[in-house]
Amino acid sequence: MTTALITGASSGLGAEFARQLAAQGHALVLVARDGGRLEHAAAELRSRTGVAVEVLPADLTDPAQLAAVVARVADPARPVGILVNNAGIGLLHDFDRNPLEDEVRHLRLHVEATLSLCHAALQAMTQRREGRIINVASVAAFVPRGSYSAAKAWTLAFSRWANIHYKRDGVLVTALCPGFVHTEFHERMGMNKGLIPPFMWLRAERVVRDGLLDNIRGKGVSVPSRRYKSIVALTRVLPGRVLQGPQRRPQR
Ligand code: NAP
Repeated sequence: MTTALITGASSGLGAEFARQLAAQGHALVLVARDGGRLEHAAAELRSRTGVAVEVLPADLTDPAQLAAVVARVADPARPVGILVNNAGIGLLHDFDRNPLEDEVRHLRLHVEATLSLCHAALQAMTQRREGRIINVASVAAFVPRGSYSAAKAWTLAFSRWANIHYKRDGVLVTALCPGFVHTEFHERMGMNKGLIPPFMWLRAERVVRDGLLDNIRGKGVSVPSRRYKSIVALTRVLPGRVLQGPQRRPQR
């Protein structure tokens, strides 16, 4: 058993990663902005599973707060054996209609934070010759859908390469690419979820289970469910305008 550091652990997929990794007996470090919510989750996980749970509140788009999380990952006295880069947000409007600051924050969270934490983790894990990294991307990485797709395509390409490159050093890296999952993600961005047909929704429990299994099996890319595996296969042949998916319209 080792220690798993999970970003975006206060809700949705991150909270589910915390539950499943704690149930496997791993100690946890939970990262997100809402410290109160993390403390609450930590208390519940400690009492249910008996594992040690540390809380590290941080806004990963803030350079000083990101540096504190990087330092925790790099700390040789308290090794992190599993890193889950999961924190993420969506932006409701098209690229040109979003304020530039929001787009930059979005890019920092998805790309800069993931890159920085992977850098620290890979330096430590390759020295120990073992480690596991899961970077939460999205099926959106395979389709042309704004700056969100572009950021997730970076996560996908980086993870795929890192898995090939660092496997020989004992480190497994997986890009987890879910389709639509029931979490707080769409409410937080103010999107009308009714536009997405019911069969397109996945449960967080299943997505995380598949992601953890594919990571242990050494897969560079994990796409949970047969439905979405077929969709990803179709992205190789369908034209870009068909693949853009439903409009991100506000909630009514
Ligand atoms: P969620 O329920 O909204 O959770 C997002 C998490 O990220 C929360 O814990 C949030 O906590 C944290 N977070 C947001 N901004 C942050 C920041 N600046 N610094 C640190 N933590 C931050 O959404 P989710 O669906 O579980 O999202 C998890 C990942 O899955 C994201 O990368 C998302 O892009 C990806 N994904 C989601 C779906 C989907 O349909 N839900 C599909 C494909 C991929 P705080 O607010 O406390 O910081």
